Amino acid sequence: MEYRAYTGMNGLGNSKLVTDLQCLKEFTELSVNSKKAAVQRNQETSRKESEDESRLPVLEAAYATILRGIGEDTDRQGLLRTPARAAKAMQFLTKGYHESVYDILNDAIFDEDHDEMVIVKDIDMFSLCEHHLVPFFGKVHIGYLPNKKVVGLSKLARIVEIYSRRLQVQERLTKQIATAISEALQPTGVVVIIEAVHMCMIMRGVQKINSQTVTSTMLGIFREDHKTREEFLALVKSK
Ligand SMILES: [Zn+2]
Repeated sequence: MEYRAYTGMNGLGNSKLVTDLQCLKEFTELSVNSKKAAVQRNQETSRKESEDESRLPVLEAAYATILRGIGEDTDRQGLLRTPARAAKAMQFLTKGYHESVYDILNDAIFDEDHDEMVIVKDIDMFSLCEHHLVPFFGKVHIGYLPNKKVVGLSKLARIVEIYSRRLQVQERLTKQIATAISEALQPTGVVVIIEAVHMCMIMRGVQKINSQTVTSTMLGIFREDHKTREEFLALVKSK
């Protein structure tokens, strides 16, 4: 922003200086971004893929303990390989800890003069509730209003995958997806809506079979401007 104001005031005579300033600014942005990405990556990933193999025995032993804890006989034929299978399944269901948005989006962000709303709706989502370790699942609807930057559409589904394959609560999942898109694309606005059913509500406790939980996060123009928000909601509802 600063160097642009400078151009306006001094005309073309200072174009070399302007270019230098621009380079400097871009370089600074680049290094700030890569530092930010590294910090983010450390915060985001709490498990390395390479470590999964070595952690399997602990997880297997834990599942064997659970089986005994519920009064099962771990030696009966049907359960012989269950701790091993369950351990692998649990690692798969939480593999999002390995992945960071910055790795996924690295080369997938494009400069584009598109300023119409981008919507991807009905993205399948499967996650595990961190309070009961049972599944919750449903659909994610994402919209954003680009500000010179767009991302490949399939990457939005990948972002959902990264955050949902972890232990979660639906509210945080919704916010993390929105924040990730906001930070990566710096759009004019982002909205994320998740409609989900929680097995911990359906199978235990209140047993409300048809109850759905809806959460939303709105950033930027979607928060400020109700017309933009309503346009998104109308487009999501239309089948
Ligand atoms: Zn739960």
